[in-house]
Amino acid sequence: MNRKPNIMITGTPGTGKSTLGRELADRTGLKYINVGELAKENNFFDGFDQDLVCPVIDEDRVIDEMEEDMNDGGVVVDYHGCDFFPKRWFDLVIVLRTDNTKLYERLEKRGYKGKKLRENIECEIFGTLLEEAQEAYDRQIVQEVKNDTPDDMEDNLTKIQNWLEQRIC
Ligand code: ADP
Ligand code: MN
Repeated sequence: MNRKPNIMITGTPGTGKSTLGRELADRTGLKYINVGELAKENNFFDGFDQDLVCPVIDEDRVIDEMEEDMNDGGVVVDYHGCDFFPKRWFDLVIVLRTDNTKLYERLEKRGYKGKKLRENIECEIFGTLLEEAQEAYDRQIVQEVKNDTPDDMEDNLTKIQNWLEQRIC
């Protein structure tokens, strides 16, 4: 496969996917796709998740919309879910992890409360997104990284850039 590498950035809401994803794209020249925003712009929704208190994206239409970019390669994808994408799309899957107390503060600041706040904290405690990534992709391309502080983010950016340079993924 000769396309440029594609990177999935996943993790519980609030773990820092968009901050990291945008910065990575800025530094590397890769294209950044925020799947939630793409769905919103195109109205690719097909329901509402009462538990997570958020709209459910229409996965097939999202995939169709992304297909051409993903085949070209060189894309950073940001979403709190990764198992519905074609496996062949990704060369590296980064799972961001954040300390519960810090995550709680970030989500509260974002205006999450009640059930929505609780469900997201639980999602992080259970490692739901890590498990999803490990089940959907080859173990060696799934990398779990701590993203508690700005220093952690710098380390993560360096790590990802090193992976990209060496193409060990
Ligand atoms: P996500 O896209 O995963 O929901 P965001 O990138 O929107 O997360 O980040 C959520 C909040 O956490 C934002 O206020 C952001 O500034 C902050 N944040 C993100 N990454 C870090 C980090 N490594 N250290 C400290 N704060 C961070
Ligand atoms: Mn985001």
